[in-house]
Amino acid sequence: MLDDSSLTPQTIAAGAPTAPAPLIDPFQRAISYLRISVTDRCDLRCAYCMSEHMEFLPKRDLLTLEELDRLCGVFIARGVRKLRITGGEPLVRRDIMHLFRRLSRHLDSGALEELTLTTNGTQLTRYADELASLGVRRINVSLDTLDPQKFREITRRGDLKVVLDGIAAARAAGMKVKINAVALRDVNADEIPDMIAWAHGLGMDMTLIEVMPLGEIEADRTDQFLPLSVARQRLETRYTLTPLPDRTGGPARYVRVEETGGKLGFITPLTHNFCESCNRVRLTCTGQLYMCLGQEDSADLRAVLRASQDDAVLAQAVVEAITRKPKGHDFVIERQRPAAVPRHMSVTGG
Ligand code: SAM
Ligand code: SF4
Repeated sequence: MLDDSSLTPQTIAAGAPTAPAPLIDPFQRAISYLRISVTDRCDLRCAYCMSEHMEFLPKRDLLTLEELDRLCGVFIARGVRKLRITGGEPLVRRDIMHLFRRLSRHLDSGALEELTLTTNGTQLTRYADELASLGVRRINVSLDTLDPQKFREITRRGDLKVVLDGIAAARAAGMKVKINAVALRDVNADEIPDMIAWAHGLGMDMTLIEVMPLGEIEADRTDQFLPLSVARQRLETRYTLTPLPDRTGGPARYVRVEETGGKLGFITPLTHNFCESCNRVRLTCTGQLYMCLGQEDSADLRAVLRASQDDAVLAQAVVEAITRKPKGHDFVIERQRPAAVPRHMSVTGG
């Protein structure tokens, strides 16, 4: 099928080969970043993310690794330059390295600028070397505490040492590690300054994240919510924070911590509107494309993918979905149920 959207007046006039048009949404934002959740499963059960007894999707509902690879190829052909593999815990998906091996060819060709992942770190001792050899240069590791007992409580089962060993393996393999910590009132708030000193002392940047109302959990998130404006004020009693101009098209704002020389990010979806520069979309492990983390609208790319082997048909479905990208989200944490967005972060991909 001919994919008309790649034909611009300029390319037709010039008779030039038609490089597919980039993905531009109705608000003139170019979509250059795809986050892909490869599984909703996880070996941990972080209290703010999942309920203790999660029901996971039947495996047959998941896109196969080949389907994920095909879909990524379509996005890359349309100008996506950065892929982030996430989950659930991406490294617990069986044969996940097969997908990384396939995707790394786009790094080799120069079509893709960055292939990266967000992980809880539990499997890194096993996979760090291969990830690095495939061109994964930077990874995000989620870690909310350096206290082994607290770590077990937050994750409901994790062993801190395994994660710290994983981080060490990633660094030894030459990957740059960024630590992501969710700021949790009464849980890790007091520890944040020391975590920053630890991370920066090892040359790792750190980002603090506000709890978002995604998916039903046992706890009331208003009890967990620590506005980062408050965390920042507390940090300023110990550190000098100098704002940095760095922007990633995402919800993070950065400062330099003068005393450590390291970089600190704040992801504040609830207290700061970041949507105007949003450059990303998210694919779930079942092939639903969410144009916004905080909205319900999605496109069922699995159906399209399984109905036709023609990538042009798939590309057209992607182009159509992007025309529905909303201007922004509307998260609100209030003492109310159900959660503002019923999908857990582990489904949409954090
Ligand atoms: N399992 C991997 C990990 O933990 O890094 C990847 C998936 S996890 C869903 C991605 C990120 O989302 C983690 O940094 C986690 O802390 C964060 N997260 C999960 N649920 C959240 C919530 N309700 N609000 C804010 N961040 C959340
Ligand atoms: Fe698993 Fe990551 Fe969610 Fe924790 S935050 S339960 S590690 S998916």
